[in-house]
Amino acid sequence: MPMKRWRYTCCAEDGEILTTSELCSTCGRPGEYVGWQYDRLESMAVYQNIYGLRPVGPHRPLADRLYAECRTRCFYCKGNGLLDQPADNSYAICPMCMGAGYFLSLDRAGADALHARILAEYPDAAAPPRIGDVAGAIIAQDVSKGFMIDLERPDPDDDE
Ligand SMILES: [Zn+2]
Ligand SMILES: [Zn+2]
Repeated sequence: MPMKRWRYTCCAEDGEILTTSELCSTCGRPGEYVGWQYDRLESMAVYQNIYGLRPVGPHRPLADRLYAECRTRCFYCKGNGLLDQPADNSYAICPMCMGAGYFLSLDRAGADALHARILAEYPDAAAPPRIGDVAGAIIAQDVSKGFMIDLERPDPDDDE
């Protein structure tokens, strides 16, 4: 489930901490509202959806370096992928980036070429991008395969 988060620098030992509480748990000062953010598993599923790669693995340093060059943070949702929906104190998927939080300045061919370059070095890195509605799904990590699945929509070719 996406949660609202606040940023604290007052009592953070190095830099800042993000929590789901409106007040600092140490000194009680109000934090800086950051907005709705995905939980850890949802973030991993978003990653998999965008890149078609497993969210965790030895390919990440290479993939992160290659994609960092063509990533632009979405100005609309400030990189969260989610927007405040004050009417019902809820969130909405950002319509600009479709919930990703950023844009890749790649065309289809460029994206395919990067993907192929990562798989050439790490053949096990591929994961099917299959979770359509990340925030509404029940996300889990299939530990045996290393990628994320939607528990409410079992994969048809799960026993490959
Ligand atoms: Zn504090
Ligand atoms: Zn956005």
